[in-house]
Amino acid sequence: MPDVVRKIIALSILIIGAGLLWAGGRSSNDAAAAKNEMDSTIAQARERVAADDPRLKGAYRYERGGWVYVHLEGAPGNIGFQHGFLLATEIQDAYAAVSAGMMHSTKRDWPFFRQVAREMLWPKLDPEYQQELQGITEGLHARTGSPLDVYDIVALNSFEEVPDYYVPWLNKREKLANAPNLKSSGNCSAFVATGSWTKDGQIVIAHNNWASYMNGERWRIIFDIQPARGYRILMDGFPGVIASDDDFGINSDGLMVTETTITQFEGWNPNGIPEFMRARKALQYAGSIDEYTRIMLDGNNGGYANDWLLGDRKTGEIAQLELGLKAYKLWRTKDGVFAGSNWARDPRVLKEDTPEFEPNNLATSPNARRVRWEELLNENKGKIDVALAQRMLGDHVDTFQKKEEANERALCGHVDTSARGVPQWAYTPFYPGGAVQGKATDSTMTKEMRLTARVGHPCGEDFLAKPFLAAHPDYAWEEPYLRDMKAGPWTEFRSGDNR
Ligand SMILES: [Zn+2]
Repeated sequence: MPDVVRKIIALSILIIGAGLLWAGGRSSNDAAAAKNEMDSTIAQARERVAADDPRLKGAYRYERGGWVYVHLEGAPGNIGFQHGFLLATEIQDAYAAVSAGMMHSTKRDWPFFRQVAREMLWPKLDPEYQQELQGITEGLHARTGSPLDVYDIVALNSFEEVPDYYVPWLNKREKLANAPNLKSSGNCSAFVATGSWTKDGQIVIAHNNWASYMNGERWRIIFDIQPARGYRILMDGFPGVIASDDDFGINSDGLMVTETTITQFEGWNPNGIPEFMRARKALQYAGSIDEYTRIMLDGNNGGYANDWLLGDRKTGEIAQLELGLKAYKLWRTKDGVFAGSNWARDPRVLKEDTPEFEPNNLATSPNARRVRWEELLNENKGKIDVALAQRMLGDHVDTFQKKEEANERALCGHVDTSARGVPQWAYTPFYPGGAVQGKATDSTMTKEMRLTARVGHPCGEDFLAKPFLAAHPDYAWEEPYLRDMKAGPWTEFRSGDNR
């Protein structure tokens, strides 16, 4: 008897058995409890059958330091299935929060995002990534019976590019009256350093992710991906999303990658390839700064426009790829440092892609942090290592007020404490967002496929949802999704770790 038939029979027996239990001699008061018991029995049976699925071979998960680590391997469909199955709970939870946020900010309904996913994004994806996304959907369904289909998952994957890049572009084209105030948001503080700047002359790279706390508290997956084709990847990431998406990752050919977004970027190419696919593909297939740049430029749709900070541990070279849509610029050096805090600097990118950005307004979050990076990196030239990078990510100096204050101008952002918010990103006063986690690594660690990561504010402070919502009723709509964001310890992860 084929395995699959045996499993179906076993599942049927379990379901029938549970049904008899439910029907047999219970009082009507117990009916609901019995029904729950039956549902739970069916769910367990489904899970047991699914757990024997050959597509799960080699995959596993464990939790450490507040992170969920998953090891995924094999063909694209298998990697997706493992992702969907092992992170099913986290994907359903993240989907609920992210989809609510996308609809709230854009005033568009979910069928709109599904249509964008189906008609604009899906056809541009390489078959490999279509298979992986389909696999995520199947793994999720196998584990929980979730009704989400592949277009829901593609829409989830686009959460950093469709609401804040495509929708404002579309609203402008459609001359929509009373269009919501949508702006590409500022995600992250980061740097990459090499040569005489670092303690051992090799590359150090570090990044903290800025996001809404609602989404950011869920950004706590470590993906160890061993694909059938391409390089092995170790990256942080978001449940259900195939790219790191806040973008911190290393690959087995020695590439080190992070980014910060470009504030007040405007533009979209509807015929381009989604950013989430290009970013994943580049981390999987690029073995050099040139290859990385080529993949990111190929079919650039303008989504989630970033200043990419790159390192190649094989050569000790670092680079900054400022990737606008109309213009871009690549800087590279074997002795220097590149920092990012959501500002563009190339004159053409500034003029053509970020026409509203004010590079000289030092009161803004991006520019105040730019000044701080310059101070901090110069003060520590020759001393930079991973331990120091971790401390820098938790820095609270506000260079505009010239004092320490955990606010929207600190490298470790706490926008929830600021009555100013960040108008350049449409962050309203006391917006519950800022630095939500941090990561750092160096050349030696990258050679061994290791990185360090910390959940929560990199300074170690906790964010507590209940008192925040009581003080700021404007954000009451987030109440079903906004949770405490407690800082964890700096924790090391390595490819192939199994506990
Ligand atoms: Zn902080």
